[in-house]
Amino acid sequence: MKNKALKRLIYGLPVLLASLPFFSSAKNLTPRRDTVTAAYKLKTVVIDAGHGTRPNGTHSGASGSYSQESNVTLAIALKLQKAIEKDIPDLNVVMTRKTEADVGLKARSEIANSSKGDLFISIHCNSLADRRVREVVGHKHGRAVYRTVSVPDRSGKGVLFLVYGFHRSEEEQEALRENLFEEKDNSDQQDILDNPAAVIAINAFKAKYRKQSIHFANMLNSEFTEGDGRRSDGVKEQGVLVLCHSAMPAVLIETGFINNREEEDYLNSEAGQNEIVASIVRALSSYKAELEQVSQ
Ligand SMILES: [Zn+2]
Repeated sequence: MKNKALKRLIYGLPVLLASLPFFSSAKNLTPRRDTVTAAYKLKTVVIDAGHGTRPNGTHSGASGSYSQESNVTLAIALKLQKAIEKDIPDLNVVMTRKTEADVGLKARSEIANSSKGDLFISIHCNSLADRRVREVVGHKHGRAVYRTVSVPDRSGKGVLFLVYGFHRSEEEQEALRENLFEEKDNSDQQDILDNPAAVIAINAFKAKYRKQSIHFANMLNSEFTEGDGRRSDGVKEQGVLVLCHSAMPAVLIETGFINNREEEDYLNSEAGQNEIVASIVRALSSYKAELEQVSQ
């Protein structure tokens, strides 16, 4: 969806009012047809390799026994870029990072929004926190003496898909406000936002992004579970910052648990990475075809 399209929608009150029955019914239904997205084309996908290496050499993100989340996500993201360019050549790919160097969350969203992405895919690895357990360390006056220790929990398994939940609606409103209007210094901008119709239009966009994010996440989930036989914790809504600042449908993929040795091996292997990439490309192809078919 182009920014100009939103502007037209906001200025074109009759069009907006005509679409209101659709907006109000969209909450209870999950309609495939979307009257707002006329002649929609999925043109640009933003691939976000989670985390990275900080200037001091440390890694942000989770660690495995021999690998770092930031390296695994970059390897998968680069393979995904190549695969999309080969298999979906009319889809433009924008990367938030192509090197080891970490990129801040705000910068990631800025890259996504300034490239007018239609979809944001963030690649991550999951990790379970250590378990706190009490163990007996001795006895004093006939009574057991305990201490609490941290024990690594390596039992995590499978994929998880996160979609931004509306926990921080003010931040999202701000992101939408900044990014849906092309001219940053447009003095009309505040007037538009003081207009209740504009607020309704922006809320409609938010609902639409959420609906599309959940839909795409479910398509990914099917590919990973049915296609690759991966265990899955499904699709969850969560307040994920990197997703909330991106004014477009966005899904964060937890590709596996890096602190489970078996999954770490899978995540680091060529076969595992290729399987993950192929699943994302299949879901992406279906999502693109579906959106473009619906809007014809
Ligand atoms: Zn992560």
